[in-house]
Formats: sequence, C-alpha cells, structure tokens
Amino acid sequence: MAQTGTDPIQQREFAFRVVQRLRDAGYESLWAGGCVRDALLDRQPDDYDVATSATPEQVMQVFRRTIPVGVSFGVVMVPGRKPGDGQIEVATFRADGDYLDGRHPADVVFCSAEEDAQRRDFTINGMFFDPIEERVIDYVGGQDDLKAGILRAIGNPEDRFTEDKLRMLRAVRFAATYELEMDAATKSAIQRLHADLIQVSVERIAQELRRMLSHSTRHIAFEYLQDTQLLKVICAGELANANSQAVNALRHLRMPRFESAFALLGGHLIDPDQPPGKRGGPLQDLCRGLKLSNTETSDISWLAHSLFQIAAPSELPLHQLKPILADPRYKLLIDISKAVDAGASSAPDAARWIEHYLSDTTEQQLNPQPLVSGGDIESLGVPKGPVFAKLLQEVRRAQLDEEVGTREEGLALLQRLAESRQD
Ligand code: ATP
Ligand code: MG
Repeated sequence: MAQTGTDPIQQREFAFRVVQRLRDAGYESLWAGGCVRDALLDRQPDDYDVATSATPEQVMQVFRRTIPVGVSFGVVMVPGRKPGDGQIEVATFRADGDYLDGRHPADVVFCSAEEDAQRRDFTINGMFFDPIEERVIDYVGGQDDLKAGILRAIGNPEDRFTEDKLRMLRAVRFAATYELEMDAATKSAIQRLHADLIQVSVERIAQELRRMLSHSTRHIAFEYLQDTQLLKVICAGELANANSQAVNALRHLRMPRFESAFALLGGHLIDPDQPPGKRGGPLQDLCRGLKLSNTETSDISWLAHSLFQIAAPSELPLHQLKPILADPRYKLLIDISKAVDAGASSAPDAARWIEHYLSDTTEQQLNPQPLVSGGDIESLGVPKGPVFAKLLQEVRRAQLDEEVGTREEGLALLQRLAESRQD
C-alpha cells in the first residue's frame, strides 16, 4: 500500500540507489514484484521492493540505517534519508518452505532470482526489473500475460492456493483492479478451493475487501467474488443476497470509498423502522463480524439507512430530510443515490430532486440554530428528565418542518406543549 508523505520521483531515485549500492557491493539486486508490474502498465508504483542475493546480514552491512523487519524471512527495510524517499523493502531471493497454517511458510531458504520468482503468486507479480540496464527479467511469462490481459497463478494454481488461501482474494483484487481476465485454470482452482478462505483471518479478508470495493472496478470484483463463490465464505456472506439494483449501482459510484459500496450491498440488511443511529441489527452485526472499525461501521449503517430514507425524498418530512442533508457524510450519500439512479432501469431521480431542493435551500434553513434551549424549558418549571428532551425534540421538529420560525413562535409552542403535558 502507498506510503504516506512520499514523492514518486524521489521514491524511484531512492529505489535506484538501493539497487546500485547492493550491486557495487557485489550482490545481485533487482526491483521485484508489484513495482515492475505497475511500471509496465505505466502506473505509478505505490512502493518499490528490491530482491537481492545478499543475505539480511549482508544487507545490514551495506546500508548504514536498516530496520530488521523480518530477518528470518530475509526481509530488511531500508529507510530513505529524506521523507519523500519512503522506505524500500529489501528481500533476499528466497524459496518458501512448507505452508503449515494456510497462510505463511514455516521457513524459507535463500536461492536464485529464478527460484524466487516461482514462489510469487501471479505471473504479473513475478517479474524483476534491472533499473540500471533498464531490462525486464521475466522467468514466469508475466509480460505476455500482462499484454494479453490475463491473471494467472505461477505454477499449479491448486497448489498455490492451497499453500496460501489469501491468494484467492488477491486474485480477485488483481483481476478486477487491473481489469484482467482470470485464466481458466486459476479461476476453477479458486472455485474448487473457495471454502478454504475460512482459514484466513477476518482482518486480512476485510483489508482485501476494502481495497477491492474502494476501487472504481468494484463491480468487477463483486462479480468475481460471486463467480468464484468466495463471497459465500467471507463472513460477508449476507452480501451475496444484495439486491440487483444495488449491484447495478456499484459501477456508477464515483467516490473511492469502501463504505459506499458496502452500504449499497448491505442495504437489504437494515431495519427501516429503526433510526439510523440505533446500535445492533444485521448490518451492524455483519460489520462487526468483519471487525470493521467503529467509524466504518457507523458510516456504513448511516449511509444504508439514509439511502433507504431518501429513496422518495419528496415524501420525507423535512425534519427527517434536513438532518440527513446537513450531515458531513451527505456527499457520500448523494454519490450513492446518483449511482442507484444511474443503475436503475426505470428512471428514479432521488438525487436530482435533492440537488434541486438544496439549490433552493440555505444552510440556515437546512440546519438552523435551535429556537429554544434547555433553560427555556427549565423556566417553565418542567423537571429534568425524559419529558425535557422530548419537548426540545418536538420544538426542533416543528422548526425543521417550518411550522415555527421565530424564537417567539418557538417559545409559544413550547409553552403549549408543556401545558398539554402537565394536563
Ligand atoms: P499491491 O501493493 O498493490 O497490493 P503488490 O503486488 O505490490 O501489489 P504486495 O503485497 O506489496 O503486492 O507484495 C509484493 C510482491 O510480493 C507481490 O508482487 C508478489 O510478488 C509477492 N507476494 C505478496 N503476497 C504474496 C502472497 N500471498 N503469495 C505469493 N507472493 C506474494
Ligand atoms: Mg506492493
């Protein structure tokens, strides 16, 4: 994932210098994996990985400052001198030992570049690049697959997914985000082994879901998740029942937010009778099952509820509509609403109605200063308690519904309400 505060040009220059230093010290060293793929696709790599014949100890001798992040697996971080340089993961060419937990090799043995390529997951991720000679070194046919637009596991797909089950989800993410066709054998291996995804931690699954569902190709990812049956296994199995309108809307989302896609797909799990902020319910359970953060969970829940509420905005009372439109998450909501409209076969136009309403409505009308305060209620002699809050709420409701507009009107209403309660 992208390192924060890095500068792409500095990062590349630093990655070049790291290779050069190792080479000067007599070791083989190359850029490896994702950065090679991205460069061949003319995309800016998020980060650079260097693979080398030097052992971690030797790497630590070559560079003054290193962070031994995973020495037993051959991995050392080399931080740049300037913040924009980022840091480079320098990994010794390695072959993985046996996979015992369905995720990680028990040990590794250091080896040649060619063998190192074989342990990588997909051909497009298995290439090296020599930045000094500007030459791609491809032992796995990654260049051909990239040109043909194919995502293919390196070696026997069934073996590769059996070793590390997470690769099945990575396959979906790479196929979708790079718009590649999944090679038939790779796909059918996932279809056969999909149930094994259960061995991967929900945190790791959620991390992959975040990445694939925040990307503009999220609709392709969702199709692959369905097609491979992985969707049934992810503890987001309930998403498999997403309604077709929500699925159609996925491709029309414009904002790169995972929460939007998740709220769309989980929309059928809300209880429309519950207020948006209410805890619990199947959608929140689903978010908690995936160990999403509290903020993600409450945003998803708010978005799904509000989307339901604004489906026919002209029929929604103003005291319900206005707080939704005054919420900071409103922009995300309108993005989803537009996506639903764009994906619908008949043309509902909730988003257009709302935008028109907003163009005629001032911020003051949308979220006006309350007309009355707790002090006003106190001075009417109402004791503190549930009635207190209820009165405030009722005056607020009338204000948002534009039944009262001035402080005097607010106070008069308050008095009437307080009296009728005391009767
Ligand atoms: P991105 O950073 O966009 O996820 P990436 O290809 O750089 O893409 P990383 O997770 O950063 O992915 O891993 C770097 C490289 O390490 C990959 O390109 C691949 O060669 C190898 N790799 C990563 N994860 C695995 C895995 N689970 N199995 C086999 N090889 C892997
Ligand atoms: Mg990477």
